[in-house]
Amino acid sequence: MTATAPREEQLWSRCAGCATLLYRKRLRRNLDVCPECGVHARLGAPDRVRQLVDPGSFQPLPDRLADLDPIDFVDVLPYPHRLTAARAGTGLTEAVLCGTAAMGGHPAVLAVMDFRFLGGSLGCAVGELITRAAERALDDRVPLVLVTASGGARMQEGALSLMQMATVSQAIAALREAGLLTVSVLTDPTYGGVAASFATNTDVVVAESGARMGFAGPRVIRQVTGRALPEGFQTADFLLRHGQVDMVVPRRSLRGRLVALLAAAQGGRRPVVRPAVPRQHPAPPAAVRPVAPGPIDGPTSEPGSTDADPWTTVRLARHPGRPTTLDYLENAFDGFVELHGDRLGGDCPAVVGGVARLDGRSVMVIGHQKGHTTAELVARNFGMASPAGHRKALRLARLAARLGLPVITLVDTPGADPGVGAEEQGQAAAIAENILALTVLPTPVLAVITGEGGSGGALALAVADRVLMLEHAVYSVISPEGCAAILWPDRSAAPQAARALRLTAPDLHRLGVVDDIVPEPPGAAHAEPEAVARTLRNAVLGALLPLLDVPAATLVRRRRQRFRRFGAARAGIRAGAR
Ligand SMILES: [Zn+2]
Repeated sequence: MTATAPREEQLWSRCAGCATLLYRKRLRRNLDVCPECGVHARLGAPDRVRQLVDPGSFQPLPDRLADLDPIDFVDVLPYPHRLTAARAGTGLTEAVLCGTAAMGGHPAVLAVMDFRFLGGSLGCAVGELITRAAERALDDRVPLVLVTASGGARMQEGALSLMQMATVSQAIAALREAGLLTVSVLTDPTYGGVAASFATNTDVVVAESGARMGFAGPRVIRQVTGRALPEGFQTADFLLRHGQVDMVVPRRSLRGRLVALLAAAQGGRRPVVRPAVPRQHPAPPAAVRPVAPGPIDGPTSEPGSTDADPWTTVRLARHPGRPTTLDYLENAFDGFVELHGDRLGGDCPAVVGGVARLDGRSVMVIGHQKGHTTAELVARNFGMASPAGHRKALRLARLAARLGLPVITLVDTPGADPGVGAEEQGQAAAIAENILALTVLPTPVLAVITGEGGSGGALALAVADRVLMLEHAVYSVISPEGCAAILWPDRSAAPQAARALRLTAPDLHRLGVVDDIVPEPPGAAHAEPEAVARTLRNAVLGALLPLLDVPAATLVRRRRQRFRRFGAARAGIRAGAR
């Protein structure tokens, strides 16, 4: 991509688009846009900030956080070594640079991601820093501008990195409630957990020319669908055509466009300052509900604390005989009335939902639906929800809140639908909106991970007041096969990846992601589906009843604290040694 000789490299760069050798200073003057072909080279966060803000106005926010290796992740390199190398290579402490600044004289808070730092991956520290930036914007009552560049969640931090999608989303929700403008600027590339949260659940989404954004990456989609992708798939112009971004802006116009948006927001009628939910300062974790659930080492008597290999658990969680959401609706609930459709043009078969009764109480149940036979699995798209499925789930959750019904979600999905159509219909934004809406839904929400809890597709139904998990279920930021393909030489390392990801119920219980483990009968859930349905019913009742008397505002405040805790404040909570 660049010329090879070190001295030459400083003076000349080769354009990634047209391969023209360009004088570095000339390229700089042109904002790192090739004057020959117009390709926008990727920018590091400091350069991006310089291009966007009024000179001298940027004041970085503190970014020193305790170092975090929450799950002691090792692939071919220990995670701390990768962090050290990223710091040395970029001069940054993390994959995001945050600060206060003025743009055209308008104050704003900026959070700018840097793809050079571990692929701009969203870990606990990044989530914490962006959340603090959003809280600063709320305190100063100024707009928040996010510039995204990310491959997705940070695998090396396991499910805790997945939780960051909710952590940041609840901060965005607070800005929404306060009537403060949020803008995201998508730069190349923006994928995965970042795409499916704060990149798309802001008020205005701007794509820089040449940026690509999507939930699933093109390589994964090609692999799964086995067909060629449409021309220009996931590019800024594709996103504009499919209604997913407000505008596509070349780099030279980006600052001006942001200034115009900030000016418009400042010129509007200021909404009444009404913090419906009191602003949550990062309270010391001790002030919140118990943070560390139980001892973090030593023998425990909790169910599932057997030393079963995580890979064995992955296979049990995927067993075709494992009870599905419809099985639980039959055996653990009464009087299920299914409700269909997202009211926007689709009804996704991979998500089922409707009203039901649980021990005489009315509840809304929403879950992923797989199947036991190949025909059922195909008809249900293997439990992989489309954007229509996520929007149906959101519609039903909001209906429940209006009717005063608690929401119970049953999570069992390998992940969101990795298809071309799903991307065209705004997969990332659909997941992002669910996550944000669930952080503030004014009714009790209880999630049960019953089988596979696969990444953002699972989290879209799992932002809850209490999260239960079946003993042989798994919950992970990425599939072991996907993780192995990226961090190990190949997918055959999936069993090792399964161990490194800490995706079992006991591990997630230790990390505080899961509140309680629901035991399964000997031989796992598929051996005695009716028995496990009874256990699940009792566990759901036990967890739900205490929530029913809590006022909605208190519930929402606690739910937000729950996800706020998953930031870097949780340094020190470590998975047990394995
Ligand atoms: Zn060029």
